[in-house]
Amino acid sequence: MADVHPQAPAEEPVPFMDLVLQYQALAAETQEAVNRCLSSQRFILGEEVSSLETEVAKYCDAREAIGCASGTDALILALMALDIGPGDEVITSPFTFFATASSICRVGAKPVFVDLDPVSFNLSPLKVAEAISPRTKAIMPVHLFGQCAEMEPLWRIAVREKLHVIEDACQAIGAEYRGRRAGVLGTVGCFSFFPTKNLGGAGDGGMMTTDDPDLAKRLKRLRVHGDAGVYKHIEVGLNSRLDALQAAILRVKLPHLDAWSVARQKNAKRYFDLFARYGLTDALTLPETLSGRRHVYNQFTVRVKDGKRNEVMASLKEQKIGCSIYYPIPLHLQECFQFLGKKLGDFPEAERASDEVLALPIFPELQGHQLEIVVRGIAKALGRLAGNARDIPATIPLRQPLRAAA
Ligand SMILES: *Cc1c(COP(=O)(O)O)cnc(C)c1O
Repeated sequence: MADVHPQAPAEEPVPFMDLVLQYQALAAETQEAVNRCLSSQRFILGEEVSSLETEVAKYCDAREAIGCASGTDALILALMALDIGPGDEVITSPFTFFATASSICRVGAKPVFVDLDPVSFNLSPLKVAEAISPRTKAIMPVHLFGQCAEMEPLWRIAVREKLHVIEDACQAIGAEYRGRRAGVLGTVGCFSFFPTKNLGGAGDGGMMTTDDPDLAKRLKRLRVHGDAGVYKHIEVGLNSRLDALQAAILRVKLPHLDAWSVARQKNAKRYFDLFARYGLTDALTLPETLSGRRHVYNQFTVRVKDGKRNEVMASLKEQKIGCSIYYPIPLHLQECFQFLGKKLGDFPEAERASDEVLALPIFPELQGHQLEIVVRGIAKALGRLAGNARDIPATIPLRQPLRAAA
């Protein structure tokens, strides 16, 4: 047998993400931007930050953009600027990064979780409507994985109940809902420049967007200790500024963001094709782009059916194929949120998502053959590939038609 079917060479490892590739393409420009900051010795706010704010405002079609120290702080500052605090409730998702809910706790308000729409992984507007109480001050939808939440029904609820909408757009810069970009779909939009986001800095950073000039003024004040200028502190704020160094680096990257989003979308399209060709669409639920959306795929998250997620993940790790779980524990089951009195079974869709989801490599620089290795790895993990890669009939013409379709 060995003579007829020699052992195929081991597949090349595929990383979950590779920020070095992106840096290499922009290294000279980035270093120049960093040197510009070092030469000026201006590190806090200043011209680099105000230029980035103008550029991000334009990118999102927002009237104002205000830089801050992180996405988490953007959420906290937005809540503070809307006077949300003790005694207030904010409705949000239990299936998101921790900071969505922790920011609500940080200002002394109560996060009220409601369950998901299982297709988009975003807040279910029906469940939001049911959770309104006299204490509700705001809705905080999350545009999870890079796809905007179901905004229209949320707007209707917000107008009817006189609530603010704070968008957690940390994973969704450039995402669109009916032609309007994330960040202008509520009262305030909150962004993160954490290195692994679609627009990532060289450390922490964040931004808030709004169309309301008074709110922008207050956000600007709150990020510098509530200082209205020349040490006149008219309220207690935070120290949460964006570094000039981060802004300078982000300004190099921003002009490439749309091309990167398009590359992510192309990778997603290739995945759809490959999963179909490998006959895996019955074993997985692939992410769906809802109508009227521009999905920017901060993550390409599939569901693995039949309780096989952990098995598939273990096999992929063994095959040196990167993958990750966002998020393994829904927030209502986190130890620090036990005081909210929620328990297993309270949000079945969030819990099911935590058990089923698997994020696959989707970063813009991924090559077609690497996507194919990922898909073949999943086929192998599911026992759909006997032996090794050579068992896939040579008649499956993978790359060529995909390129033609792109
Ligand atoms: C990354 C992220 C945040 C927090 O951003 P940081 O910049 O890391 O503080 C908040 N919400 C969501 C959904 C995120 O993905």
